Amino acid sequence: MKRIAIIGGGISGLSAAYQLEKARAAGTNLQYTLFDNGQRLGGCLLSDRVEGCLVEAGPDSFLTEKPWAASLCKELGIGDQLIGSNDAERKTYIVVNGRLIAMPDGLMFMVPTEIVPTALSPLFSWGTKIRMMRELLHPPRPMHGDETVAQLVERHFGSEVVDRLADPLLSGVYGGDAAKLSARAVLPRFVNMEEKYGSLSRAMLAARKKMADSKPTKPAPLFTSLREGMQQLVDALSERLNPEAVRLRQHIRRIYTDGAGWRLSMEMGEDEQFDGVILAVAANVAGELLDGVDSGLSANLLGITYSSSVTVALGYYRDQLASLPPGFGFLVPRSEGKRTLACTFVHNKFPHRAPDNKGILRCFLGGARDEAVLNFSDEKLLDTVLRELGPILKLQQRPIFSRIYRWRGAMAQYEPGHLARVAEIEKRIAEIAGLELAGNAYHGIGIPDCIRSGTEAASRIAKLTLTSEVAQS
Ligand SMILES: Cc1cc2nc3c(=O)[nH]c(=O)nc-3n(C[C@H](O)[C@H](O)[C@H](O)COP(=O)(O)OP(=O)(O)OC[C@H]3O[C@@H](n4cnc5c(N)ncnc54)[C@H](O)[C@@H]3O)c2cc1C
Repeated sequence: MKRIAIIGGGISGLSAAYQLEKARAAGTNLQYTLFDNGQRLGGCLLSDRVEGCLVEAGPDSFLTEKPWAASLCKELGIGDQLIGSNDAERKTYIVVNGRLIAMPDGLMFMVPTEIVPTALSPLFSWGTKIRMMRELLHPPRPMHGDETVAQLVERHFGSEVVDRLADPLLSGVYGGDAAKLSARAVLPRFVNMEEKYGSLSRAMLAARKKMADSKPTKPAPLFTSLREGMQQLVDALSERLNPEAVRLRQHIRRIYTDGAGWRLSMEMGEDEQFDGVILAVAANVAGELLDGVDSGLSANLLGITYSSSVTVALGYYRDQLASLPPGFGFLVPRSEGKRTLACTFVHNKFPHRAPDNKGILRCFLGGARDEAVLNFSDEKLLDTVLRELGPILKLQQRPIFSRIYRWRGAMAQYEPGHLARVAEIEKRIAEIAGLELAGNAYHGIGIPDCIRSGTEAASRIAKLTLTSEVAQS
């Protein structure tokens, strides 16, 4: 019987544990233990019920186009609970000089594909609009090294688009800074388009035409979630695991090899022996745990940096929100000098989240440039958000409830050179028997990517178990 330890009970570790449970049930001779140092499973996934509203503490949904999360939900029997975002209301605003300006139609991520709405939009200066027109003439750019997202976007559309679109959009997804994130790792599609077409607008138009020609059907909603929140996925996964295999409040301090396998050094209790280990924790935590095993691997893992995030949910009666425009919410460029990075109008994005007479605003703070806000008291955070939101949304009254969640070091930052670093990490991991990595630090930060990484890590380790059994027999 092979014993496998999974360290980290977030969505990556839970997906790995579920995969091992399936392998065990199918007859693979293994036993697994899932360790988490917290009080509960789920990591960043946590949903609360407050005054009839569903409040997401961390992620509220996942990208529909990445299939692994919805497939897992269907396999777990909660496929009927999947809900799509209310895309008929999908308008996003950018704050410019304290006012909300709608992102023009035809903008695909940050690339304009429709001339009239872009030309008429007050979001961009005339200088930027002329630059956007000229971008259509960019010649293909041959293969080159990595660069930052800001460098790529500035070359095509200028610094205003970096400030008003690239930076706020990436700060929403990665809690990151466009001037520090790798174009190849974060926007691989743009890099490929630039190599092939030169102009990103022309490339997007070609992609749009291809899609329209091949798929005349109604497009799927951009985001998918679960009726009772992302917690529903955590609960469904947890129910499938053997309860005795789950060990909460157990902090793993170090892992090391002793020739016969892996040993885990626990904060509480004796060291324990395992045949394989899946590290489903942040890369910098994995780097610290592996310090005594392989210093090169550990240094590479520690080189992946993280940003932190704070979410502040505010509940209102719907009539208090009468001044709110339609749409999913707004993003705040850095040049506005605010601490609030973004705000989602939750009841518009997912109408099931609040009863008809209530609405929820969810604000994001922190990110790569404002770690300090993590140390604010709840009172100061609430004051900051209300002071900043008030003039933008013409909100006079205080909310009927608020909830604040801090996520320290939760979002991996894919800096230039990320893909090469990950390739090196994975090459080394493949040489170390019985060790696997999973999580948001390697091939995607979103929930579907984390599920895939956990599932694949577990499949590799289960296969190794089978192979060693065959070799022994
Ligand atoms: C505020 C916020 C909003 C987000 N929004 C979205 C979204 O809308 N859509 C989307 O797709 N993604 C979103 N993400 C990203 C996504 O949620 C995360 O990338 C993903 O949940 C990470 O899961 P994980 O299991 O890899 O890590 P985590 O959830 O961080 O889990 C790691 C676990 O390991 C435990 N641990 C750490 N060290 C040890 C140790 N030494 N011993 C034992 N246990 C340990 C931790 O306690 C934790 O429970 C968001 C993230 C945040 C923070």
